Amino acid sequence: VCAFEPQARVSDTCSSYATLDALNDEIHPILDSITQDTDFFSYYRLNLFNKICPFWQDESSLCGNIACAVNTIDSQEDLPPIWRVEELGKLEGPRAGHPGKRQQEERPKKKPLQGRLGDDVGESCVVEYDDECDERDYCVPEDEGSSGKGDYVSLVDNRERFTGYAGLGAHQVWDSIYRENCFVKPPNSPSSQLSPLHGLQVQAANDFRSVIQREQPQPDDECIEKRVFHRIISGMHASISTHLCREYLNQTTNEWGPNVQCYKDRLHNHPERISNLYFNYALVSRAVAKLQKHLEHYKFCSFDPDQDQDTKDKVLALTGQLHSRPQIFDEAVMFQDENSIELKEDFRNRFRNVSRLMDCVGCDKCRLWGKLQVNGYGTALKVLFEYDETKNGENPLLRRTELVALINTLARISDSLAAVRSFRQAVEAGHEEI
Ligand code: FAD
Repeated sequence: VCAFEPQARVSDTCSSYATLDALNDEIHPILDSITQDTDFFSYYRLNLFNKICPFWQDESSLCGNIACAVNTIDSQEDLPPIWRVEELGKLEGPRAGHPGKRQQEERPKKKPLQGRLGDDVGESCVVEYDDECDERDYCVPEDEGSSGKGDYVSLVDNRERFTGYAGLGAHQVWDSIYRENCFVKPPNSPSSQLSPLHGLQVQAANDFRSVIQREQPQPDDECIEKRVFHRIISGMHASISTHLCREYLNQTTNEWGPNVQCYKDRLHNHPERISNLYFNYALVSRAVAKLQKHLEHYKFCSFDPDQDQDTKDKVLALTGQLHSRPQIFDEAVMFQDENSIELKEDFRNRFRNVSRLMDCVGCDKCRLWGKLQVNGYGTALKVLFEYDETKNGENPLLRRTELVALINTLARISDSLAAVRSFRQAVEAGHEEI
């Protein structure tokens, strides 16, 4: 059984896990350096506290543990210049002015604002547009507001790890997320037997169905798009579980460290979850590879040319590595049949609902990383399905926060792959610790 098949055992030696592990050996250190050492990618702006859960109200599921708390940055002075509103504002010269609400409304949809920017001003340097939501987005925009609305967070100082958030509140969120997978109009697509995983053996639809039925009942008419939706969610869940097992708090000794039993319970004994984690790695790394051309011309706007160059060098080293390998994910097999327009809209709306559900997460730290990763997957989907590498001008806007979320999400999955490998080795060797 190939490792990408949900029924694969993690101990199976199959080229597909090995292929992605080998790629990960190359890009993991680059991703580490991008996300830990550059100002551009180690901070994030989002609406962490101000949005209310649009689906239910349940104050009792809020997490009061200290590990759930997030240290936000309240003063602009404490931010690196690259993220400061007033610095970004300086770039808004007369020609690069932020469009007023009315102008935005009058502007025909889809038309980019590029023509308005000053000659040397990259689009990425200008404060993001208010409430600007492109119909091609897979997420509800998070960070809108040119006046510093939203919360600034150092991702390095607020690591994703075990928080103790659990119980009914957490389950309710996960259940609702998985329920989004119940698509209304099941198309009977001939593409349903295809798989977007290029050159790798993948599951027959029936195998997959029998496995996921154990966790979430699925309708019989599974099409590829629904399977992909499920795999993205399950893979994200698996990645979050990996991080919390990797950095677990031993409440007896008060020490942080890997917890092998946690890994066994949540991942090792559920090989389909690990398979979905690898699936996400293939999907997100393909999206990043697809942005290579875009990133070659991207301005990182740190106001320090050396720092900009360093950030760009790292990012292009990443896309260069990804491009040097055969393409492992083929998005072109999705949304191909006659129902594809409706199906894509349904898919997109469901993914937007997952992004809204993040406001129902009762633990600040989990909400921060949940929002960032959902935005990362949403951006990957937007790049995969709405970007055409050959058409530069007509592509949808890629917000700074989307790029930061995308790269950090890949870094999170990359960390998970490395952690799963060391956990697996420990289990195979019969060790209770790593
Ligand atoms: P859960 O992980 O809550 O899973 C619930 C059910 O979903 C399981 O019983 C199983 O049937 C199914 N399931 C589990 N994994 C998968 C999978 N990969 N694919 C398909 N089905 C699956 N906790 C932290 O400590 N740190 C965090 O950073 C953190 N971030 C979170 C982010 C979000 C968005 C959410 C909703 C929760 C987060 N949590 C975090 C909580 C954590 O995910 C668990 O909910 C919690 O640890 C309780 O775990 P559990 O064993 O009860 O099962």
